[in-house]
Amino acid sequence: MNLEEKNGVCYLTFDLLKNEDVKYGFSTRIGGVSTGVYDSLNFGFHRGDSEENVRENYRRMAKALGMNYERMCLSKQTHTTNVRVVREEDAGNGIIRPLPYDNVDGLITNVLDLPLVTFFADCIPLIFFDPKKRVVALAHSGWRGTVGKIGRVTLEKMHREFGCEIKDILCCIGPGICRDCYEVSSDVAEEFCKAFGKEVAEKKLLRPSLFHPEDPEKYMLDLWTANKLVFLETGVLEEHIEVTDYCTRCHPKLFYSHRIMGANRGNLASFISL
Ligand SMILES: [Zn+2]
Repeated sequence: MNLEEKNGVCYLTFDLLKNEDVKYGFSTRIGGVSTGVYDSLNFGFHRGDSEENVRENYRRMAKALGMNYERMCLSKQTHTTNVRVVREEDAGNGIIRPLPYDNVDGLITNVLDLPLVTFFADCIPLIFFDPKKRVVALAHSGWRGTVGKIGRVTLEKMHREFGCEIKDILCCIGPGICRDCYEVSSDVAEEFCKAFGKEVAEKKLLRPSLFHPEDPEKYMLDLWTANKLVFLETGVLEEHIEVTDYCTRCHPKLFYSHRIMGANRGNLASFISL
């Protein structure tokens, strides 16, 4: 990943998409107008920040990425594996009109100039681009989304709805909480064992806790590797996957982290548009 800056707005890009004809970026905290715990590039409208500041943050990001602010289409994330196909009539959802849906953790579109937006603060952003069929998608993959394999759900929907071949799709795994920061309890660990079987041990998805080494009920969980496994088992080519090395908890100056800040924070966001 690369940290880029335009008009003071800082965002991250992937090497995998460097030469692709697609507009996209993953936000940082840097370059917005929000203050206090939202300092400064907050994209969450309903977290207590001023609406006008959040709108200005969207305008700045849209300008930096060369996107149309008024046509952005936002998700409504509730840790589901629901992925919505976005059509022309969805342009502006959450920006110029209230969201007409709830429980949407992934978005797919083939419509030109219709930017998709999903939100994060430790959960894992998934970013998809099929350069052959010209289809883009975003998904939100926290531990529940990862156990539910929202990466696979999104890929299969791209195939079903738009005829994308899985082997053509480029898949990026963006900034979220790293395995050395993400302690989970045994109930979450059990869900991973059910979802990933023997790969939990083979790929070391769960390790002993770094924070509570004596507690056998605590584990460190590797969401990045788990999401990569989901891509590989769905048929994505290994060379079509890029995994970030930016952890949202390790870099508090760059990102909001739910584990550090709790609910008093802004939202980071993924953006992508044809
Ligand atoms: Zn970390």
